Amino acid sequence: MLTELYEQIYEKIKQSNPIIIHRHVRPDPDALGSQRGLAAIIRQQFPEKNVYTVGEEVASLSYMGTMDNVPTDLYEEALVIVVDTANRPRIDDKRYSKGSYLIKIDHHPNDDQYGDISLVNDQASSCSEIVSDLSFYLKDRFSMNDEAARLLYAGIVGDTGRFLYPATSAHTMRTAAQLMEYDFSASEIGQLMNTHSKKVAHLSGFVLQNVEINDLGVAHVILTQEVLEQFDAEDDDTAQVVPLPGTIEGVICWGVFVQQTHGGYRCRLRSKGPVINEVAKRHGGGGHPLASGANAKDMDEIKEIIKEFDEAIMEWNDA
Ligand code: AMP
Repeated sequence: MLTELYEQIYEKIKQSNPIIIHRHVRPDPDALGSQRGLAAIIRQQFPEKNVYTVGEEVASLSYMGTMDNVPTDLYEEALVIVVDTANRPRIDDKRYSKGSYLIKIDHHPNDDQYGDISLVNDQASSCSEIVSDLSFYLKDRFSMNDEAARLLYAGIVGDTGRFLYPATSAHTMRTAAQLMEYDFSASEIGQLMNTHSKKVAHLSGFVLQNVEINDLGVAHVILTQEVLEQFDAEDDDTAQVVPLPGTIEGVICWGVFVQQTHGGYRCRLRSKGPVINEVAKRHGGGGHPLASGANAKDMDEIKEIIKEFDEAIMEWNDA
C-alpha cells in the first residue's frame, strides 16, 4: 500500500540528519521539481535538519534553484533519497551509495529495484505528483509550502507536457489545483517553460523543416554535431524540440537522434500509443511506455530503431 510507504518514509525522514537528495543525470523540470520541492518541504517542517540537493546544474532551468556542494564525509550518517530515477546507472552523483540508508521515490516502471524503501507509483504523471501526494496525505506533519508548491507544479507541468500526455489523470489535475492554492504564479511558471532561447527557436525551425515521416507515422530527425554547432546549441537544448514532430498530423511514434561528442547518438523516443520502452531497452535505454531514451552507436542502429517503431505501430494497429 502506498500510504504505508508514505508513513515509513516520513518516519525515516523524521529520524535522519543529514538528508541528501539526488535525481537523474540530464535533469528535466520533474527531476528538479521533485528533488527541490521535497527538500523545501523537509526544510520547513524540520528546520534543524541539514538538507542538501546534489547534481549537475542546468542553466536553462535556473528558475528551479541551485544545487549544493556536499563533502563526501557527510554521506556516512546520511539518509539519501533518490527521486525520479528508474535505474541506478542514471543517478546523478554516484556517492548516493555511500549513505547510511537509501530511499527511492519514482514514477517509472520499476525495472531496477533499489533502496531500503522503494516508493514507486508508475501510474503517477510525474515524480512531483508523488511528492505532492506524500505531503497532502501526511498533512500538517509534512506540510506543503509556497516554494515547494511552485517547484512541484513546475515538475508536473514539465512531465505532462502541460497536461497533454496520457499519464495526465483526474488525480493529476486535482493535485495541480491543490498546488495552485499556494502563493506562486502558475502563469509565470507556464511562461518560463514556454519561453525558448533564440537558438532553440532556430533549432526548432530546423527540426520542423527536416523531420522525415514515413507512411506508418514514424517520424525522425537527426541532429548531428554539425547541426548543433550551426545553431550554437548543445545536447541540453534539444529537450525543447523533442515534442515538435508529435505535433505534425499523422505522426504516431518519433525519435530525435542527437549526435554526441564521442560520436554515438542519444535517442529521444516518443509515442502517442504504441509502447516503445521495449524498443528503448533493446538499445541500451529504457523509460516510460510512451517516452523513452536509448543510445545508438551509428546510423545503422538508428535505422533498426525506426524499423522497430514501424513494427510497434503495425502491432498496435492490429490490436
Ligand atoms: P529523455 O528523452 O532524455 O527526456 O528521456 C525520456 C524518458 O526516458 C525519461 O523518463 C528518462 O528517464 C528515460 N530515459 C532516457 N534515457 C534513458 C536511458 N539511457 N536509460 C533508461 N531510461 C532512459
